[in-house]
Amino acid sequence: MTILGIESSCDDTAAAVLRGQAGDAKVLSSVVMGQTALHANFGGVVPEIAARAHAEKLDHCVKQALDEADLGLGDIDAVAVTAGPGLIGGVVSGVMCAKGIALARGLPLYGVNHLAGHALTPRLTDHVTFPYLMLLVSGGHCQFLIVSGPDAFKRLGGTIDDAPGEAFDKVARLIALPQPGGPSIEQRAKAGDPKRFKLPRPLLDRAGCDMSFSGLKTAVLRQRDSLLVDGAMAAQDQADLAAGFQAAVVDVLAEKTRRALAEYAPLADVRSICVAGGVAANMAIRGALETVAQEIDAAFVAPPLALCTDNAAMIAYAALEQMASREPDGMALSARPRWPLDQTSPSMLGSGK
Ligand code: ATP
Ligand code: FE
Repeated sequence: MTILGIESSCDDTAAAVLRGQAGDAKVLSSVVMGQTALHANFGGVVPEIAARAHAEKLDHCVKQALDEADLGLGDIDAVAVTAGPGLIGGVVSGVMCAKGIALARGLPLYGVNHLAGHALTPRLTDHVTFPYLMLLVSGGHCQFLIVSGPDAFKRLGGTIDDAPGEAFDKVARLIALPQPGGPSIEQRAKAGDPKRFKLPRPLLDRAGCDMSFSGLKTAVLRQRDSLLVDGAMAAQDQADLAAGFQAAVVDVLAEKTRRALAEYAPLADVRSICVAGGVAANMAIRGALETVAQEIDAAFVAPPLALCTDNAAMIAYAALEQMASREPDGMALSARPRWPLDQTSPSMLGSGK
């Protein structure tokens, strides 16, 4: 089976070609065309600009993915596309492009949940076996999932306000570090003392896996204000605050991962803890999660960064995983701005949680 994947739910236009089957697939090409420059002046992704850029880039992106795989459309057996959740204009652009190709070539068309794509990636990259715990941490998402089958996801909890990547970006802005905030805070934190400032670990006093990062950001803001001299921060203060913020995020993610495992333990035996999303690039976060995994003698799996952040290979792969147990969507496929993962399979894992 050779499958074309298309992704356009946020600010990356992506296409990929995979060959193989569930549990044994090879990425022949994976092209990601970013839009960072287009949105740079607006302080965030502008949905209308993103949708137009996707519509302009999708054809080129698909062509490049086919060229890099050394294939033509005639070699493709199925098409998979992100059908949600995401910015609706972008999702519609991708779905229309995929429908056009499927209709013209008489190919089966599969609509894929973007989060399912992230959640199933460790099976593509590391052949991880079900069930596993997935921590999805990106600019737009933060949630714990138990993945027990290609379409069996149980959400254990997530952020009740900002996603961690968003918090890294906002804090970087507060302490005058460049965007994207994650890498610049990680870099600056290396020279800092994480214990100098007392910053909160939100919701650690509350049971369950829900998290909050917005109060932490406000605490950084207050601390920063007390450090400003003539409107600027000393380099060491900046480093110490970056280190303190990062340490707080690390503590929250690690402790909530422990809770997720404790909550799930009665249901089955998780042997792998996996991460996905751009924030998974952070070495301090990886290190802490690896330690949690060792505590329960589980494997820690972090896919290569190119497959951790938004890409189309994960969408094509999720369709390979799911096609044995579902029919193609065909031309009836519609774009869904909201699509909670465990809505696809409300009955899995029984009724216990
Ligand atoms: P989504 O994929 O949820 O739609 P997104 O496209 O914003 O959202 P990603 O591309 O997965 O998310 O990740 C980008 C985010 O990851 C940014 O917020 C960025 O600051 C953060 N990030 C990248 N590298 C690091 C790092 N080393 N440490 C912490 N955060 C990081
Ligand atoms: Fe994503």
